Amino acid sequence: MIIDDSHYDVILIGSGAGGGTLASALAACGHSVLLLERGGVLPRADQNLSEVDLFRKERYHPDEKWFGTDGDPFSPQMVHAIGGNTKIWGGVLERMREQEFRGVKLQEGPSPDWELRYADLAPWYEQAEKLYHVHGVAGADPTAPAREGAYPAPPRPVEPFLVELRAALERQGLHPYDLPLSWSDSAVDPSGDAELFGVNPARACPNVTVKEDAKVVQLHVNPSGQEVRGVEVDIAGQRWLFRSHQVVLAAGTIGSPEILLRSATEHHARGLANGSDQVGRNLMKPQLTTILQLAATSNSGRYARGHGITDFYWGDKNVDFPLGSIHSGGGVLQDALFAESPPVLSLVTRLLPDFGIEQLASRSITWWAMSAVRPDPHNRVLLRGSQLQIHYTANNREAHDRLVYRWIDSLKAVEADPLTLVAKAAPTHPRGEAPLPVIGGACGTCRMGSDPATSVVNLEGRSHEVHNLWIVDASVLPSCPSVGIGLTVIANALRIGEAMKALL
Ligand SMILES: Cc1cc2nc3c(=O)[nH]c(=O)nc-3n(C[C@H](O)[C@H](O)[C@H](O)COP(=O)(O)OP(=O)(O)OC[C@H]3O[C@@H](n4cnc5c(N)ncnc54)[C@H](O)[C@@H]3O)c2cc1C
Repeated sequence: MIIDDSHYDVILIGSGAGGGTLASALAACGHSVLLLERGGVLPRADQNLSEVDLFRKERYHPDEKWFGTDGDPFSPQMVHAIGGNTKIWGGVLERMREQEFRGVKLQEGPSPDWELRYADLAPWYEQAEKLYHVHGVAGADPTAPAREGAYPAPPRPVEPFLVELRAALERQGLHPYDLPLSWSDSAVDPSGDAELFGVNPARACPNVTVKEDAKVVQLHVNPSGQEVRGVEVDIAGQRWLFRSHQVVLAAGTIGSPEILLRSATEHHARGLANGSDQVGRNLMKPQLTTILQLAATSNSGRYARGHGITDFYWGDKNVDFPLGSIHSGGGVLQDALFAESPPVLSLVTRLLPDFGIEQLASRSITWWAMSAVRPDPHNRVLLRGSQLQIHYTANNREAHDRLVYRWIDSLKAVEADPLTLVAKAAPTHPRGEAPLPVIGGACGTCRMGSDPATSVVNLEGRSHEVHNLWIVDASVLPSCPSVGIGLTVIANALRIGEAMKALL
């Protein structure tokens, strides 16, 4: 093993929404930072744009297999790259609702109290929206929490057919709003992400070193297990050891617990920072179903997500538990989630059986239905020898089913309206639920809390047991809301960064 001579203030492991964001915050303060990322820069062609032939292929699956609950191997949908999963995300950046921090009564029981309130995150949400150039309209989403001011920028124009569709939804008494989206100013790479807004500004600082294709394999601790002494990294088959004052895990919901579990020693047989046995547990993956509608005319198939609908977020007639949110999907050829949900291709062909794939893509309108799930300690990431095993059974199912059926009824009402010219009635609205490999939006495997017996890190993201170890990614979230978690991960990383700076 090669031992690196340098001693950094901070080693950051992972460069996605959490790690990339924190890198820029620390870099601006002049601290010496080593950012270790197991992937490299993602080629532009592999980002949020897909060609028809790519639509057929299995993209965005790293060269690794995990094992599911049934013991069968599967290939997860995610990227290992500078910027992490934000390189292929939809870029919809929404704030969690105030009630979700206190705990919400879901159909199958309450979601946990975060021990933090919306007010604790609100200033960081504001900073996060500025950093990620979020374009949106304040107050447009009837369920969005109170905010201080406007979004950093107004929404960009959407495809003309979506404008007409929005009016058609409004005629049904629904309240569609412009989804808040992260945009860059670049014509060739228009979507914002953690490489652009996090890693790139950090890299520009002389005090920051970024190592790509550097996979962290293990953390080494002192004999008492209370301090990380070294970070062992595989770079091109060679083992390296790097050292720092503070160590931050930002390797994502699966990557962070994996590193802690792989760092088990004789004294820490269950893995590092795992006295509570909570590392890897409470994995939550939002319930996601795509629903297709037949467009009356062709569209480009290449556009960003457009509108959100939260009319059923907190319930529906006769239902007093939350159902979730609806998004109009991105174009079939651009929305990585859509293109990668394996059953979806066959759904599209059911919509227009005799069409070619390009025509199918351009004649489909996609919708996403998304519902919360509860933490369940049996849903977890485990090591099976050297392999990763994911045990996962979704919960809160009835709420999600109700949302999906409610949305299909809404689409039928839109299509029956003689004033609606952009969507056509079809014999069916094909739909498909995102399967286990669609795991890039997951959270919860190293949750934060004040009680060391039931959480892995404290409310400042710092390990209860290892005093120079922090976690700033999606794994610390105690619950999984019905909106995307990206903005919450970014805001929380900025919040934790502030606490960490006091120690540097
Ligand atoms: C297709 C898709 C669409 C999405 N759309 C949205 C959306 O519209 N809105 C939203 O809010 N969220 C969306 N998400 C979810 C969002 O991208 C994630 O919630 C967010 O990226 C999580 O941030 P993170 O920092 O926890 O992890 P990531 O962003 O996944 O970053 C983790 C990083 O750690 C690296 N890493 C892992 N293991 C190691 C190791 N051993 N050594 C070194 N580095 C390591 C990984 O390569 C990766 O770069 C989407 C996700 C996907 C996949």
